[in-house]
Amino acid sequence: MQAVRFMGVGQAPHIEDVPQPSPAPGQVLVKIGGAGVCHSDLHIMEEDLGFTPPFTLGHENAGWVAALGQGVTRVKEGDPVAVYGPWGCGHCHACQLSMENYCENWAQMGGFGGGLGFDGGMADYMLVPSARLLVPLGALPPAKAAPLSDAALTPYHAIKRALPQLHGDSTVVVLGLGGLGHMAVQLMRVLAPVRIVAADVDDTKLAQAKGLGADHVVNNRNGAEAAEQIRTITGPRGASLVLDCVGVQPTLDLGAQLLGRNSVWTVVGLGGGHHDFHHGSTPYGTSMSIPYWGSRVELMEVIAMARDHRIHAETSEFPLDQAAAVYKKLKAGQITGRAVLIPHGGITEASGS
Ligand SMILES: [Zn+2]
Ligand SMILES: [Zn+2]
Repeated sequence: MQAVRFMGVGQAPHIEDVPQPSPAPGQVLVKIGGAGVCHSDLHIMEEDLGFTPPFTLGHENAGWVAALGQGVTRVKEGDPVAVYGPWGCGHCHACQLSMENYCENWAQMGGFGGGLGFDGGMADYMLVPSARLLVPLGALPPAKAAPLSDAALTPYHAIKRALPQLHGDSTVVVLGLGGLGHMAVQLMRVLAPVRIVAADVDDTKLAQAKGLGADHVVNNRNGAEAAEQIRTITGPRGASLVLDCVGVQPTLDLGAQLLGRNSVWTVVGLGGGHHDFHHGSTPYGTSMSIPYWGSRVELMEVIAMARDHRIHAETSEFPLDQAAAVYKKLKAGQITGRAVLIPHGGITEASGS
């Protein structure tokens, strides 16, 4: 079968033929219907994050159950499913709470999940270690559901943690309106009665965010001007939540100027920026956090919201063999919403081969 492989830091993703896996006892083989193209993959390919090549990329995956390993009973062949991305041990305290994103035994797991150390979903088929990592989709098409498993789940988890600080008169600032940011705006709209300010350097993405529920949009190409503009909106109270979906130095520097007292600063983007967190560096009461992905139960919640048409991923679909070109577009900022790779010759039906 065809697969998009991570070959090493500094190397372009390589499409090659690999053997189609078959499920061992307890495992499930998923026929991929869509694999989201996430900015994190660029960090994997460009920086040494400690991953050992080669493996198949793709950590935002959905498709149909294709084959069951011995003893698997919770799903059956043909079921449409999303694949929960952060694979934990399944039995520690965090995993028992379904928060496998914070598995205590992560260091012994040999990888973070499919596409992150283990073979992911940018292929015709993907092996999933356990049926517990699958969430039923119902009528939601896999190509639409795939991005939700990270681009929606990650901001959902981040926003839920901040909810106690969000009130009817709060302002939230979302920095970066790519895959995660365009979902974050929608999730904010659903989860809290707040005023939403969305910022990006790309006017197309700002227009999209406005359509998705942002009250104000600000171009932050010039950080100082953007800070002033946003502070005019928030007033002296400042932002109750700054959700940074980029994490580069300019967005951290901007976020630092927007926070109010007793606020939440959450960085989910992997941009590598720094903030010197010390007494006086941020307003009193500010908590800063770097959450990682979300829990299995939260993925169930995200999928349910999408099934009810309360959130949706704005997707553009590409055949799997265009992966290298799509990553280039993503890097150049030319993807609005989320790009999704479709294997099996670009056919999005369960019966396509
Ligand atoms: Zn990702
Ligand atoms: Zn665990």
